[in-house]
Amino acid sequence: MIILLKENANPKQVENLTKFLRGRGFDLHMSQGTEHTIIGLIGDTSKIDIDLISSLDVVEAVRRIQEPYKNANRKFHAADTVVDIGKARIGGGHFMMIAGPCSVENRDQICEVARDVCVSGANVLRGGAFKPRTSPYAFQGLHGEGLRLLSEAKKESGLPIITEIMDINHLPLFEDVDIIQVGARNMQNFELLKELGQIRKPILLKRGLANTIQELLMSAEYIMAGGNEQVILCERGIRTFETATRNTLDLSAIPVLHKLTHLPVVVDPSHGTGDNELVAPMALAAVAAGADGLIIEVHNDPPHALCDGKQSLTPEQFNALANAVRAIMPYGAKEMSWS
Ligand code: PEP
Ligand code: MN
Repeated sequence: MIILLKENANPKQVENLTKFLRGRGFDLHMSQGTEHTIIGLIGDTSKIDIDLISSLDVVEAVRRIQEPYKNANRKFHAADTVVDIGKARIGGGHFMMIAGPCSVENRDQICEVARDVCVSGANVLRGGAFKPRTSPYAFQGLHGEGLRLLSEAKKESGLPIITEIMDINHLPLFEDVDIIQVGARNMQNFELLKELGQIRKPILLKRGLANTIQELLMSAEYIMAGGNEQVILCERGIRTFETATRNTLDLSAIPVLHKLTHLPVVVDPSHGTGDNELVAPMALAAVAAGADGLIIEVHNDPPHALCDGKQSLTPEQFNALANAVRAIMPYGAKEMSWS
């Protein structure tokens, strides 16, 4: 339920109202718009007397929210959420370009890729240390050593870093990590999401392979319900009957999410297509559709990559893509700046 307050509502009366609502056991989400303040009520609102609340002097209107996600709902929070990571920002017109290898493999590899993507304009470096692989015999990542090397690349390049968490017990290793990624396979690992709700670090939440947009938003809600509001959503392709691409990149998720939520939306055309040649066209399409950011796999030697070489761009290809993104950005569905 949301309560829309009148313009210039008397602060004392607003305080009385919020005290009353908190006293009834509700968590309140206050959203200050340019003209109106909105109070979002979280909890069982079925017994609340709407007529009574509507009749109060300070109240303009009361509306029930049908959607089961509250904190993530744009009706609760009209303005775009901006997630700030030092110099890199995303949301509210700020574009974030995340690039780097699927996995951290060795010092030279991650530092070289970091240097190259930074020169091309990437503002966040990616690199997996804990890899969710389909086969237990495939390269699983360098774990703690991978995180240490990623930190070195951060220091050398000046880029903030993002990497995936698979087990909450690894969290102490993530101290130097700027954005924690929850991979597609863990989108509904609710215990992990709850724990990530307790920390105050941005989370990039990837859409599960077979999950709906509403389920993605409910997973974001798990994190936000714990008080961590810095959630970035990521469309990375879903399973369909199509086999020509690794996944089917659901670009319609971008405008749909922008309508439903205030959270920023990143698109991953690398996992979305699984094919180096398809990454650039789908990345450009995502920008045109209003994506707030991209996450692109880049490797200095894709044929010898330990993971996802087939979908990785070379640094030169990434540079060309970055230039193309800059060129089409003014024509995208959302006004965006990328610095
Ligand atoms: C990744 O980003 O390397 C990854 C494993 O992604 P996803 O969870 O989308 O498959
Ligand atoms: Mn990958």
